[in-house]
Amino acid sequence: MKKEIDDFLAEVKARNSHEPEFLQAVQEVAESIIPYISEHKIYKEKNILLRMVEPERLISFRVSWVNDAGEIMVNRGYRVQMNSAIGPYKGGLRFHPSVNASILKFLAFEQVFKNALTTLPLGGGKGGADFNPKGKSDGEIMRFCQAFMSELYRHIGPNTDVPAGDIGVGGREIGYLFGAYKKIRNEFTGVLTGKGATWGGSLMRPESTGYGVVYFAQNMLKLKDKDLQEKRVVMSGSGNVAQFAAEKAIELGAKVLTMSDSGGYILDEEGIDTEKLNFIMTLKNVKRGRISAYVGQYPKAKYFEGERPWSVPCDIALPCATQNELNGDEAKQLVDQGCTCVVEGANMPSTPEAIHVFQHAQILFAPGKASNAGGVATSGLEMSQNSLRLSWTKEEVDARLKEIMAAIHQSCVSYGEGENGAIDYIKGANIAAFVKIADAMLAQGVV
Ligand code: NAP
Repeated sequence: MKKEIDDFLAEVKARNSHEPEFLQAVQEVAESIIPYISEHKIYKEKNILLRMVEPERLISFRVSWVNDAGEIMVNRGYRVQMNSAIGPYKGGLRFHPSVNASILKFLAFEQVFKNALTTLPLGGGKGGADFNPKGKSDGEIMRFCQAFMSELYRHIGPNTDVPAGDIGVGGREIGYLFGAYKKIRNEFTGVLTGKGATWGGSLMRPESTGYGVVYFAQNMLKLKDKDLQEKRVVMSGSGNVAQFAAEKAIELGAKVLTMSDSGGYILDEEGIDTEKLNFIMTLKNVKRGRISAYVGQYPKAKYFEGERPWSVPCDIALPCATQNELNGDEAKQLVDQGCTCVVEGANMPSTPEAIHVFQHAQILFAPGKASNAGGVATSGLEMSQNSLRLSWTKEEVDARLKEIMAAIHQSCVSYGEGENGAIDYIKGANIAAFVKIADAMLAQGVV
């Protein structure tokens, strides 16, 4: 089996040799799917996995715009349309200076699997630009979004490809992007999700990824007769996912100790409560400040510049910032200090070495493609509401989100439960998603 996996990865590497993040994501999937394919020959005969790792379409385009100083700036925009076997392409847009084809292909590939797990008819894609929103004025953000959409609009549509937010793209950016699309196309449609609640957005979309992460953790703990009450939670990030994961964890009785940004992390041994979290939300979403300001407001807390929070003893770890933010040494430290549950809020935050540590220690570990799927699932619910021209209440959407997270958890259990009763959530998520997509590809012929 090892040879088959190595041969497959060598073939993918030959075509994508300068794309380390993409190769990392493919390797993680191949290691659980190739043994499954060997027992289900039809997938091998029809070369399904090799077809899945090749994007259906990869669009790259120039984005020129004018900054406040009157200078002409040039960025590179992308949309990776990875797989449309089970529905229109769906996946976020990321604005961050690190954005390149490798990062977007890894995210799009993960998205295909994640979307299949949601139980909704959604294909997978991802896009963005190497644009750095930090320090830009509101006017600059708007002009960039308009310039970006002046090309992207040709490639998307409510039945073709429906982007959403991701790192650097929140409610403000979705607003500017939607306004530009509407102006160019002269149509008001559900072409983007994450819209404002008064103009086609779903209630609960901002909360859904973070809440979903915690609902997934609840499902995992429940199987072990445990819950979040009094648990020490260490998390990274202070953006959309982290904020709402923290909010739900606090509501369910957990003690949230840390949050971070790319500058460092804060540790509040007394726990971040609702009032303190509101301070962080205003700091991040309105003032667009740095997490270090927390210790100015709450002097008993500590700030660790340039560090990540994984050395803090905890029961549960929620990495909610970015890819490869938790390495093997940090994973070992977490396990050695008593952490028994790691649930990924970000996409691929744990390195392969870290995952190996978690699996070897047999602690509960959920990959982002399963545990953070609540965001895209609620985007799917936003698409349904747009098609129906209806708005569901917060309670209705939350109930559906809980059901979806429970269903994703059950899919992982169905395909990932080992003989000793331990659940390999990576294997479970990968195989459950693969079967759904692969069967649709088989039915649709060689296209
Ligand atoms: P966000 O609102 O932009 O927040 C990102 C957070 O991560 C910020 O605190 C940011 O700090 C930090 N961060 C970003 N790059 C970093 C780096 N290289 N090193 C350390 N910290 C870094 O983004 P988000 O929507 O919360 O997304 C976070 C993660 O969740 C991403 O992996 C994303 O793909 C994934 N995700 C998001 C959604 C969604 O619905 N939003 C759904 C599924 C998965 P700074 O402010 O200093 O940059």
